[in-house]
This record gives sequence, structure tokens and C-alpha cells, in this order.
Amino acid sequence: MSPAISALGPVARAGVGSGRPLSVSFEFAPPKTSKSEAVLWEAIRRLEPLAPQFVSVTYGAGGSTRDRTHRTVSRIVGETGLKPAAHLTCVEASRAEVDEVIRGYWDAGVRHIVALRGDPPGHLGGAYTPRPDGYANATELTAGIRAIAPFEISVGLYPQQHPESPSTSFDIDVLKAKVDAGATRAITQFFFDIDAFLRFMDKVRAAGVTIPVSPGIMPVYNFAGLKKMAGPCGIPVPAWLANHFEGLDDDPATRQLVAASVAIEMCARLREEGFSDFHFYTFNRADLVYAICRVLGVREPPAPKEAAA
Ligand code: FAD
Repeated sequence: MSPAISALGPVARAGVGSGRPLSVSFEFAPPKTSKSEAVLWEAIRRLEPLAPQFVSVTYGAGGSTRDRTHRTVSRIVGETGLKPAAHLTCVEASRAEVDEVIRGYWDAGVRHIVALRGDPPGHLGGAYTPRPDGYANATELTAGIRAIAPFEISVGLYPQQHPESPSTSFDIDVLKAKVDAGATRAITQFFFDIDAFLRFMDKVRAAGVTIPVSPGIMPVYNFAGLKKMAGPCGIPVPAWLANHFEGLDDDPATRQLVAASVAIEMCARLREEGFSDFHFYTFNRADLVYAICRVLGVREPPAPKEAAA
């Protein structure tokens, strides 16, 4: 790659774990109804044979899915060979309530938590007021989890700046604090500007952060929906991406092909740059992610040959 974009080589930038075989993780949302539960489980079963490093289950805004998240991760522990990572937020909850959830996860056999602060209610990017009796941020939450049990702890990272943060350098300081508190992996917010991501990662590594970082890959399931989601998160949606999807509103088959090709190209470039762990936002659908993984070479192991008679 051009030195104008980055002074670091692929291994230095990608950090611990780079050069390893490709490894993937999948993010799901807890279902609301029995119908959406069936859809989720169809996706889980389809993606399970790809042997992901872990599968994560989100926690609804303000803990609104607390029980559903718990049920879903418990079912993953009980009925699959997958390793679940339960998302957990601390916004709008007391420490005692959050600690109870953490202990509940440990007792259910969950060994990995994605520790997040959560968004201020109704104000993504607005002012956040921590509860006096709660964890103030994801750093405090990480320390709280670490004090309870030896979980693997993933945390969020924002290559294009968290909406409340004054700068990406501040975001890196926050990441360092989370690592000092016990975080073992960072998963990034989705992005489409790979050069900006690589420059950001150079700064992360130059700051001495060595934990693995999984780039968060968002396949474009629906371009209008993506733009709606990206805006408040402060994630630029590039003109080339809009151009790819322009005029395809009534052509879902072509949209799928374009979406797969965009994600494959992104992952291939990141792979060239030394990244080996990719976290896919699935929206509880397997089709696109399954196809992307196949092209990247992530496949189910071959069935064992039957012993010769
Ligand atoms: P923090 O790391 O605590 O940072 C939040 C903000 O506070 C940042 O602007 C940071 O710069 C600032 N900050 C942190 N520490 C300090 C300090 N000491 N002093 C001053 N400022 C500080 N949300 C959900 O509700 N449910 C989910 O399941 C969920 N999953 C996610 C998964 C991933 C991979 C990512 C990247 C995000 C996810 N989110 C989820 C969204 C997340 O909750 C929001 O982005 C939230 O606004 C920030 O969470 P955080 O853990 O990064 O917070």
C-alpha cells in the first residue's frame, strides 16, 4: 500500500494475530417474536458450520432486551457448539443490576461479554448522563466484569470517531483505558473508508494497543436503511457506494450481488493489510454473509470420509 496512507506494514498494523488464518464472528439480535426466532435460528444453523470464532448477541437500547438476549445466548450455549459473546450495556442501570446480569451470564456458561456503555436514551450522539449508582462508561463496566469473573471482554472501537468524542485520538485514549481495565479484543463500528480505517489503526498500534481488533463489516442489506443508521453514528457513506446502489430499488437480486461484491472487496483489501478477524453484522440473515465467507475461503470442514468396508 502507499506510504502516504500508512507507514506501518500489515503485521504491525493488524497487531496480535495477524498472519493467522482468516477467522470470522457473526453478530445477531435477540428475536422479538416466535416467527423472528425461527428466522434467527435458521441463520444460526446456516452459519454454524463455518466454525466462527464466536457469535455475539446484541443488547437492546437501555437493556430493553435483557431477558431475550440472555435466553438467546443460553440457547446457543445449550444447543450449539458455538461460543456466544453476550453484549451488555450499562446505560440506565445500577451497578447492582448490571452485576446480576454478568453473574447470570457466567452461570449460564457464557465466557465472553461485549462490554458497551450504550447510547443516551433517544439521543444518539447527544449528551450522556451516567446514573450516579451505575457504571459511568464502558471502561468502568469492563473493570466491573473483570472483577466478577475471568470473561473474555470485547469492547467497541470507532475508526471514524464516536459521535460524542472530540477526536479519534480521544477514542484511542479511551480504548487504552478499556484495555487497562481488562478488554481483550476490540470490535469496530462499521465503516466503508478503508484508507481512513488503516490510518486510524496505525495510530492505535502506535499508541501501544496490541489486542486483536476485528473490523466490523456491514453488508449493505438495504441502502436507504444503511444511510439512516450511519447518519447519527457519524459514519460517512461514500458517494461510490451510493452510486453502486442507485436505481436498484426494485431489483433485489442485483442489490444482493452488489452488496456481496462490496463486502468481499473490503475484506480482501483488509486481509492484504494483515487483518485476519472479521466481525459481520448479520441482521439475523445468513445468505449474504454465508456467500461472502465462502469467497473469502471460510467454509465448513469437509465431511469425514466413510471408512472403507
Ligand atoms: P465508551 O467506550 O464508554 O465511550 C462512550 C463515549 O464516552 C465516547 O465518546 C468516549 O469518547 C466517551 N468517554 C469514554 N470514557 C470517557 C471518560 N473517562 N471521560 C470522558 N469521555 C469518555 N449499543 C447497544 O445498546 N447494544 C448493543 O448490543 C451494542 N452493540 C455494539 C457493538 C459494537 C461492536 C459497537 C461498536 C457498538 C455497539 N453498540 C451497542 C453501540 C454503543 O453502545 C454506542 O456506540 C455507545 O454510544 C458507546 O458505547 P461504548 O461502549 O463505545 O462507550
